[in-house]
Amino acid sequence: MQNKLKKLGLKLPPLPTTTVGSFPKPPYLLEARKKFDAKQLRESELRLLEEQATKEWIAAQEEIGIDVLVDGEMYRGDMAAHFAAAMSGFKTSGLVRSYGNRYYRKPIIVDEVKWPHPMTVDWWKFSQKLTKKPMKGMITGPYTMMDWSFNEHYPNRKEACLSLAEALRKEVKALADAGAKIIQVDEPAISARPEELRDFALEAMKIVTKGIDAYFICHICYGAFEFIYPDMLELAVDNFDLETSNSELDLVDLFKEHPFTKDLSFGVTDVHTHVVEDVPTIEKRIRKVLEMLKPEQLWIDPDCGLKTRSREESLGKLRNMQQAVNKVRAELD
Ligand SMILES: [Zn+2]
Repeated sequence: MQNKLKKLGLKLPPLPTTTVGSFPKPPYLLEARKKFDAKQLRESELRLLEEQATKEWIAAQEEIGIDVLVDGEMYRGDMAAHFAAAMSGFKTSGLVRSYGNRYYRKPIIVDEVKWPHPMTVDWWKFSQKLTKKPMKGMITGPYTMMDWSFNEHYPNRKEACLSLAEALRKEVKALADAGAKIIQVDEPAISARPEELRDFALEAMKIVTKGIDAYFICHICYGAFEFIYPDMLELAVDNFDLETSNSELDLVDLFKEHPFTKDLSFGVTDVHTHVVEDVPTIEKRIRKVLEMLKPEQLWIDPDCGLKTRSREESLGKLRNMQQAVNKVRAELD
């Protein structure tokens, strides 16, 4: 996919580094969000603090030397609810219990879902202005939006998913028109029901990305790839961003059975542990995947968003990741 990147005018070093999307919110922002929920803070005041936190994370990524940046999602809560709240056709449920004792509000589709207006373009523009490095555009994909919502409107999951795809395509188009050249579609739920991949998830992704001039990354976590591999290679994206170090690199064994034909953003640090993996550990992971893939196919990033880690843990993991990449890069030259 190097050609596509070049055509888009993007010059990236070998083994480009990036991150999946979210970073931990600083204490002052968590405090402000609580106040906002309690109606003790105006939206404009909250927005200023979100901008402040975004600036800090962009500066941190630049300082470490990351190649493709993210805005850090300082303004987001849940990744499906965030978009559902902005789109028409959704309302929000009362508290729903998920695993353990965690309660959350789940979106409900109650009418035809429609794209209301650009939902992410403002933040993308704000962030891109702060850096010369490319800033990823970022949306939650149609399959995950469908799977993580109650559906009270469409006759079945397929129709809900395809309608969401039509709406989200407009967001992707708006991002590309604004200048976003790398767009990530988050689909953590895509292996939820493996048979649905062929039934309609492939079609949905095609609706979202086809004919739009950008390099597309699909982020999938929870690691149930064995159920949808190699079929998932037919998803209409250029790059898969997969959670791999948390699953002990099982994926690399899958690639032995069926070659991986796209680009891969390879997760090299586990986001579920406080442990900051040292440089040699990360280097070893990169070398292992290089036995299977060509360097031109490979990007390096953490397994998933870092929002549940502390700022220090996040920075430590990213610094070590970048150092490990620099070492391997030096040998590739
Ligand atoms: Zn993830």
